[in-house]
Amino acid sequence: MNQMGDVPEDLYQKMFDQQNGKCYYCKMSLKRDYHTEHKTPLCRGGLHDKDNLCLSCPECNLRKNRRTEEEFFALINGENNGEKRTVAVYGQTTFPHSKM
Ligand SMILES: [Zn+2]
Repeated sequence: MNQMGDVPEDLYQKMFDQQNGKCYYCKMSLKRDYHTEHKTPLCRGGLHDKDNLCLSCPECNLRKNRRTEEEFFALINGENNGEKRTVAVYGQTTFPHSKM
């Protein structure tokens, strides 16, 4: 049941074990509906080859879309770092001096 080529069927089971049953990208536990993912998408010159394959959760696969592995990790990391929420400080007793 493989549309694209000569990757042995048990490769997916091996990858699943290698990744400890977790999504390659977000490390979420994969349930039964994992996607097989091309680290470098075929449309970006990636190969359908075991070195270029990984298992991901559907969410990551869909979000990653045509990004490469590097680009997607950069996106994920960027999001984590970007979580500097500007904390509004309420209840501050010092106000800027305003000259009437
Ligand atoms: Zn994921």
